[in-house]
Amino acid sequence: VLAARAVSKAYGPRQVLSGVDLEVGAGEVVGIRGPSGTGKSTLLRLLAAVERPDSGEVEFAGRPAWVKRRRRVPRPGFVMPVFQHPRASLDPRWPIWRTVGEPMLRAPDRRDRARDLLDRVGLPGIDLDARPTELSGGQCQRVAIARALAAEPAVVLADEPTSALDVTTAAGVLHLLRSVADGGTAIVLVSHDGAVLDVLADRVLRLADRSLAVEPTGAGKLVENPVAATEARLHSR
Ligand code: ATP
Ligand code: MG
Repeated sequence: VLAARAVSKAYGPRQVLSGVDLEVGAGEVVGIRGPSGTGKSTLLRLLAAVERPDSGEVEFAGRPAWVKRRRRVPRPGFVMPVFQHPRASLDPRWPIWRTVGEPMLRAPDRRDRARDLLDRVGLPGIDLDARPTELSGGQCQRVAIARALAAEPAVVLADEPTSALDVTTAAGVLHLLRSVADGGTAIVLVSHDGAVLDVLADRVLRLADRSLAVEPTGAGKLVENPVAATEARLHSR
């Protein structure tokens, strides 16, 4: 459903990605790991079509993903990113219901639908008028995921969705992503944490030397209780 074909990207003299190929099937959870600064976030921005590759192409549903967009609101059914720094990716001026409702601008009942989504991501009863500064990192991350789901995307791109969270909150977010994937939404999950990827991902790739390589892993679907498994593995480090 989402593919990168021979994608390259440089910032000035620094070649970050070179000839990267990736295919993401419907409902698949693909994990990407690799050392800091290797270009994982860059790759996700290209996949999300918020940046354009220097060469190569990102395709969504068989068509070029990059279109010069004036609108800030992404197309429904497309990909929704959850960025590395959740609080920074939420508009500080907006109450959270408005952030979550942004992808459904034309829906008159979007406040109610935002409440339903916030329930779904584990924030039942949260004040819909709260601003991001009043929330914890984990709550911000869940709000960002709720916004991603509001777009009813075919693919969610998650960049270090648990990096700022304590172990229990992180496990909750992973459990949530797993249930999103089980509902048929593909997920591309970037994490430097191998334990997280082993639990959640159907397959794991490693970004090194400007391109992706297959990394052997345990398949996420074989784990019966991802939350307990993640907690156990995180605690054992
Ligand atoms: P981390 O694990 O620390 O999040 P990463 O793998 O996500 O790292 P990127 O953030 O994609 O790495 O950055 C890859 C390289 O590209 C880095 O050297 C970074 O400095 C550079 N880079 C990223 N974005 C830009 C930009 N907008 N302008 C210039 N250089 C950039
Ligand atoms: Mg990054």
